[in-house]
Amino acid sequence: TFKAWVIDQEEGGQRLAFRDFDESGLMPGDVTVRITHSTLNYKDGLALTGRAPIVRRFPMIPGIDFAGIVETSGHPDYAVGDAVILTGWGVGETHLGAYAEKARVPGDWLVPLPAGLSAEECMAIGTAGFTAMLGLMALDHHGLSPEAGPAVVTGASGGVGSVAVALLARTGWRVVAATGRAAETAYLRGLGAAEIIDRSELSGPARPLARERWAAGIDAVGSTTLANLLAMTRADGAIAACGLVQGMDLPTSVAPFILRGVSLLGINSVTTPRPKRREAWKRLAGSLDGAQLTAMTTRVRLEDVRDLAEEILAGRVRGRVVVEIA
Ligand code: NAP
Repeated sequence: TFKAWVIDQEEGGQRLAFRDFDESGLMPGDVTVRITHSTLNYKDGLALTGRAPIVRRFPMIPGIDFAGIVETSGHPDYAVGDAVILTGWGVGETHLGAYAEKARVPGDWLVPLPAGLSAEECMAIGTAGFTAMLGLMALDHHGLSPEAGPAVVTGASGGVGSVAVALLARTGWRVVAATGRAAETAYLRGLGAAEIIDRSELSGPARPLARERWAAGIDAVGSTTLANLLAMTRADGAIAACGLVQGMDLPTSVAPFILRGVSLLGINSVTTPRPKRREAWKRLAGSLDGAQLTAMTTRVRLEDVRDLAEEILAGRVRGRVVVEIA
């Protein structure tokens, strides 16, 4: 057996317990990993609390990201002792997940520990940071560069937001950080934000078009905030949309698209194909400095992860959280 957080289904909801889990209960996969680190994302908060139907199989071990050491392998790319990471693929949703001392997964879902990053640093990045990088790559792919104008980041003090601010600033963008936490101004400036705006400027109903304020953006918020971002984007700019903390709705019009040539770029980190995953991790290793990662990261023990679930859903977690397991 090994220690794990386990979600069981019960009448009218779910029950979460930190308990022993029998290895024979692990799901099919050709690689078994001894987990050393995990992390906390917004989706983990939803799964741990049952606030949204993230978990699709019971019992479930929640946790969507892990880093660890290969214990047994039947996969040609991985040998015993290899350091690996995993984000997404439904781990912690449909496949037993990361808040445990052990996981068994298809080796095709794994990525070798990227050169230049430790297991802990990879989890400081986690799905949130990986998603921020996919957002930056989507803007690049669209042909946008810092000469086009400023880039806006919403949910800036959160996980995706903090990494997005740091990555965009390192790449030379003038970053406008939208936050509800004025107290985090110094933190956001430390990550590279040039300008801080109150998120209430963006959260009301959007007009079809508004004054052009930025050429690009990475949005973790959705709803009327994303609608405002689009209405305020310069001609031929683009917004990469990855989140829904304000809501899943998008009350916008076609005006930004047909009158300004603005583009909306969708980001999905869960099933990103392997070559793009490796490229994103390589770029993350090359573009984040250790001091910035340290500044945005807090550490908790596996036993304490439940206490943070409500906190992240309430928008009270700053930056990223590393869960220490070994
Ligand atoms: P997080 O750490 O909680 O960050 C979200 C941030 O949004 C909060 O810290 C807060 O920042 C802001 N916020 C919270 N409630 C808000 C509201 N009602 N209106 C406006 N802003 C609000 O969460 P995360 O892990 O970074 O994830 C962010 C979002 O991205 C989630 O919706 C998550 O599901 C999504 N996501 C999607 C993918 C994908 O593959 N598409 C991958 C990762 C994450 P301030 O206090 O600074 O305003």
